[in-house]
Amino acid sequence: MWFQVFTFYLSYFAFSQAQDQASFVRSNDPTGRCHYTFTVAGPDRSSCTGSITKAEVKGILTRISLLEALVGRLIEDVDEGAETGLHPNETGGLQEAYYQVSQEKNQLQVDKKHLSKQVQEQQRRLNELNMELENLKQRTCQQTHTSGAALDEKRPTGDLAHNAEDGAYQEMKAEVTQVPASHLITDGNHTVTLSDCLTSGCGELLSVGDPVMLRKADTIMGKYGVWLQDPEPQGSFYTNETVWRIDAVGKDVRQFFAYEDMDQFTRGFPMKVLVLPEPVESTGATIYKGSLYYQLRRSRTLIRYNLTSETVAAHVELPYAGFHGQYPYSWGGYTDIDFAADEQGLWVIYSTSKAKGAIVISQLDPKSLEVMRSWETNIRKNTVANAFMMCGRLYTVASYTAANTSINYMFDTSTGEGRTVSVSLKNKYRYNSMVDYNHALRKLYAWDNFHMVTYSLRLGGASNGSS
Ligand code: CA
Repeated sequence: MWFQVFTFYLSYFAFSQAQDQASFVRSNDPTGRCHYTFTVAGPDRSSCTGSITKAEVKGILTRISLLEALVGRLIEDVDEGAETGLHPNETGGLQEAYYQVSQEKNQLQVDKKHLSKQVQEQQRRLNELNMELENLKQRTCQQTHTSGAALDEKRPTGDLAHNAEDGAYQEMKAEVTQVPASHLITDGNHTVTLSDCLTSGCGELLSVGDPVMLRKADTIMGKYGVWLQDPEPQGSFYTNETVWRIDAVGKDVRQFFAYEDMDQFTRGFPMKVLVLPEPVESTGATIYKGSLYYQLRRSRTLIRYNLTSETVAAHVELPYAGFHGQYPYSWGGYTDIDFAADEQGLWVIYSTSKAKGAIVISQLDPKSLEVMRSWETNIRKNTVANAFMMCGRLYTVASYTAANTSINYMFDTSTGEGRTVSVSLKNKYRYNSMVDYNHALRKLYAWDNFHMVTYSLRLGGASNGSS
């Protein structure tokens, strides 16, 4: 910029020299002060004999004004450059860069909006897929549970039940085994299994609904007993619809009633009456995976009775278990050994002299009935009315006679710790002799003073119940 100013003045000076013959004189006056004299010739004449006309003065003033305006503009540009510390060319470059950056920023904002929309869309799609997966799981569970029922249509009735080992039946058993597998689904990372079906939604017990009465026993033999449905039928003649019932009053309990479904059960006409080869003790029996599990009368012997073949499949002593009134529940009734089934398998609830009457839980191999693992709790068996297993946790019922009682203790086998809980439970008929959990239907089954009832349950979703 300074170079431009200098060049301008130089050019202007040279022009003036050439056109107007200007001169500059410096001299002392009589007092000794220095005087400067600057002389410029007029544009139309080279002498200065006459007086200067008004037009000439006006012309000079105009030229000076133009000159001042030009200089003023140049000075402004110089000052501006000084303020930014940048050469004007550089300022222009920065402005250009700023413009480009702004443009890029705007474009990025547009891209960001577009990507956000895509993320939202993908999230929505993911939610839909998760829901679809849940639905498929449910359908798989239902198909798995009903596969036994479907097979029943193919299966001839009669003596086949007694010839479980013949070739034709073995073939059908293989088919049954394959049915659930063919219905397994996968999302690429995870194969849905029966175990997933059973444990999905497993959690701690939050509440128990009011009892729903399905059937009332007609005779004194039915004051107490066991009634259940198989949560995991194993391709037998029977399904998860089949209702099972044992009236437990008497010294030689062997009769075992099968009802086609709940409707037939409520009307009271069994489709079949089985006679067990060995008598049942009390109300601790359960039905699980096509077998009846029960305690042999006056012994610590556990029996697995195969519902299809109608034969005893396992006959094992439960080591050190008290029986026949040693460690019963508070209502007595020789309730020393109580079977239970849940999402995690087969269990037995009892006590031993070593445990001094505290509840012991053992997980059993469902086929051999061998003890796989045991836990000793810190609650005495004879202080509670009953117990059941759910999601690998033991729950005890406080009273069998109080109309408004509670589930008062929980022991978690995954942590080996127990604690007091308080979940309301109603003994509507004031003599509750059996409480068991059906994990397929998520209900409690109970036998309350001649009345066979169910309770709906609400579980928390915080845990998957795995151990
Ligand atoms: Ca029980």
